[in-house]
Amino acid sequence: MPQILIVEDEPALVTMLRYNLEKEGYRVDDAGDGEEALLRVEESIPDLVLLDWMLPRLSGLEVCRRLRRRPETRDLPIIMLTARGEEADRVRGLDTGADDYVSKPFSPKELLARIRALLRRAHPALAQETLTCGDLVMDLAAHKIRRNGREVKLGPTEFRLLRYFMEHPGRVLSRAHLLDAVWGRDIYVEERTVDVHIRRLRKALNANGDADPIRTVRSAGYALEFPEV
Ligand code: CA
Repeated sequence: MPQILIVEDEPALVTMLRYNLEKEGYRVDDAGDGEEALLRVEESIPDLVLLDWMLPRLSGLEVCRRLRRRPETRDLPIIMLTARGEEADRVRGLDTGADDYVSKPFSPKELLARIRALLRRAHPALAQETLTCGDLVMDLAAHKIRRNGREVKLGPTEFRLLRYFMEHPGRVLSRAHLLDAVWGRDIYVEERTVDVHIRRLRKALNANGDADPIRTVRSAGYALEFPEV
């Protein structure tokens, strides 16, 4: 579930964007001015930024320039949002390093298509329709999981949890990391909640007596592992 940061000072537009992005399953964060945007990125680097051109405190152009200067955000996908027909701005925006440009007013459908295209280029694993890991296949469009061809029924949290594991196979993920990635950092949940959902996930995955693909790493967290992965 890619994380998108909306940097926009018009609350109505933020609400509209947030609604449309969350409906598509993206995790959304927002910032109302340029300085706040840089702080947010410092806290956690999103997978893509929607960046308004005209912003209080620090313009979208300047935010883009600063993000491009830092090695950790040099390749961060950025889509600039700007008023209609400002051709000169468009050229300047792309010069500054924005990856794409959408002029206001735009249709949510068009913007979503641009976001998908950009994410596909930047992180092929985040935008693809199916994830495969060992004997597990997750169909993201249909929201279905199969293990060895057998359908596995999961609740929404277990689905998101498994998806995150499948996007990071073999990696040991701490409870705090999983809480942040799967539940979101605005929600307060105790770390042992993760254990409850891991237990449910294991029960569903291993119902047919298959080997448990989730390894518990003492005092570190959990990892999804398959013999030949
Ligand atoms: Ca604005």
